[in-house]
Order: sequence, then structure tokens, then C-alpha cells
Amino acid sequence: MLKAHETQLEIDLSALTHNYNYIKSKLKTGTKVLGVIKAFAYGSDSVEIAKHLEKLDVDYFAVAYTQEGVALRDAGVKRPILVLHSQSVNFKTIIERCLEPSIYSDYVLKEFIKTAESLSQNNYPVHLKFNTGLNRLGFSEDEIGDVVSKLENTSAIEVKSMFSHLAASEDPNEEEFTKLQISRFKTIAQKFETQAGYKPWLHLCNTSGIINYPEAHLDMVRCGIGLYGYGNSVEEDQKLKPIATLKSIVSQIHQIKKGESVGYNRAYKAKGDEKTATIPLGHADGLNRIYGKGKGYVTINGKKAFILGNVCMDMVMVDITDINCKEGDEVIIFGPKHSANDLAESANSISYEILTSISQRIPRIFKNE
Ligand SMILES: *Cc1c(COP(=O)(O)O)cnc(C)c1O
Repeated sequence: MLKAHETQLEIDLSALTHNYNYIKSKLKTGTKVLGVIKAFAYGSDSVEIAKHLEKLDVDYFAVAYTQEGVALRDAGVKRPILVLHSQSVNFKTIIERCLEPSIYSDYVLKEFIKTAESLSQNNYPVHLKFNTGLNRLGFSEDEIGDVVSKLENTSAIEVKSMFSHLAASEDPNEEEFTKLQISRFKTIAQKFETQAGYKPWLHLCNTSGIINYPEAHLDMVRCGIGLYGYGNSVEEDQKLKPIATLKSIVSQIHQIKKGESVGYNRAYKAKGDEKTATIPLGHADGLNRIYGKGKGYVTINGKKAFILGNVCMDMVMVDITDINCKEGDEVIIFGPKHSANDLAESANSISYEILTSISQRIPRIFKNE
């Protein structure tokens, strides 16, 4: 059992239900939802999140790497799991654990066919990834003919879906580019259908794509950050509910005098009589040093307490000169009121990064199951 006074990440599963239903409300009936639960479900807990999403009847899951999918299968997760960044060294495991690979290059296609054939598979489901402008992973449009001929020469695999990924779906200044990606993807899908003679499912949208480009929802959408309560805009953030609250406590309070320093490298020097609080959370827990030196802040009794000097490995000191608090009081690093996005923006980062940085040593506590 967890002691009450400890740094913890509290995860509100009723907020996850709310976010899932909100995303669903944006979709036509019949559009499938794939929950992206890579990186421990954006730093929360992939197994608990997957099980809750299964109860909500999510259609599909995606993880980045094979081992993430294996962990879900070990925990009894049953829905199909797409492995976004499959690697040939893992193909045997992928098949043995009923995971479904993203196939994004000629090499990956050849190797997966080889493995599927050697394991006597028939119509093993795979997902073809096309590059429409992100230039990260994916076949190019002019490889379609080659892909189709390799597929025609084997019965070991079957293309369940085709997909691509948007580079800037959250950015209104890049609307033209996003529309170009959408039209490139539709052209690719059409060419594939004509040459292969069948129609795999199509999917393109991440969270911001779902919100900003309803014309691109196609057969399925891939929702990550939205499920966790962040919508990449002030307006959408108001409709979603952050599922995670990172909480800690005040361990110790110090009164310091003008000129005294705080923490490593003496990076902060008091400008007068000041009061500091030490909090049991540091860069080893995911509070990056970039938040130090007055950039980031936590909230204590509803008030902002800015970080003083350098973030230590296991601790951080904050300014509580104007805050009425005592040792043992609760500290909120981020949560529904003081969001991970606000904290991230204080250091030019994004919600995705701070959420996924939360160390595995911090216990995850679930409420409203
Ligand atoms: C991570 C990821 C997503 C989810 O994106 P969000 O912006 O978190 O919704 C979707 N598709 C791919 C290919 C991804 O890598």
C-alpha cells in the first residue's frame, strides 16, 4: 500500500472515459478508434489504460515498439495491437504474440514476408505505412507497384490497413501542407486499390487531425494525446480532461537570508529574506533541468511556487516566500488546473514530452475505475 505522503501520479479513469467519448463525438458512426498507448500510454500506465479502453470498446491499439505490445499481451490485453515501429529482429515475436507490424520499407516488407512464410502463416495482418511529407517512416508513392507485386507473390500476409502520419495537424499555419498530405494519401490509396484489386482500411489522423480535419477521418483515427486530456489548443484543452495529476509534498522548509544560495552550483541567490520548500521529485523523475532557474513552477495551496536554481536528481527547491504552507502540504506539479501543457510551455516544451518523461519509479495510482 502506498503511503499518503509520497510523490505519485494519480490517474483519473473517469477523465479517460470523458476524453474517449469526446473524441467519439467528433466521428461519424462506424469510424473506428485506435488508441495510441505507446510510451506507457503517454507516461500513465499502458495496461490500465488499455483495459479501460477495452471496456469502452476501442477498436484497435498502437504501440511504438514490439516489447510494448508484448507487455500488453502478457497482461491479457486482447484487442489488435499495431506496432508502429517494427524492426526485423522482432518479427518472430510479433507473430508469436499476435501483434501487427507497420510495414514501412522494402526491406521490412521482404523480411516480414520471409518470417511469416517460415512460420507457415496465412494472411497474417500487416499495415502499410506511406510517407506523405513527414519524412520519418514510410514507403513513397512510386514504390506501390513493387509492394503490390511482392504481396501477389505470397499468401503469408494480408494488408489490413494503409496509413500515413500528419506532420503539423495542430498548426493552422500549415493547413495547406496538411491538405497536401491528405490528398497525397488519398492518391496513394487509390493507386494501391487499383493495382492490388482490394481496399484495405485507411487511417491518417492523430488527435489534432481528428479535431481539425474531419474530411480525413477515413476508416479509423489514431488518437493519443487527446485520450490523455490534451488537445493542442486552448479551445480543445477546455473540452478535454487531463487524466494525470503529478503530486508530491513539501518535505522541508528553509528560511534563507539575502545572498544565501540554493542548490547545486549555487545557481540561485536570495535577493532578500526568503522561504524555500524542498520537494521529493527531481530530474530522475522526469522534471528536466530545463525547468530550473525560475522557468517552471509547481502549485502549493493553489499558488505558483517557482523552481529555484538547478533541479537536482531526486529533489527540487521552490520559492514559497509568499505562500502560506507547511511541511507535509500537497504540491501539484501538473494536473487538471495547472496543466502539463502550461508547465511544458514554461520551458518551450510540449505536453507530450513532460507526460512521457515521468519516471517509472513514481507510483501510478488509479481512481474512478
Ligand atoms: C504517436 C502517434 C499518434 C498519436 O498522435 P497524437 O498526436 O498523440 O494523437 C498517431 N499516429 C502515429 C503514427 C504516431 O506515432
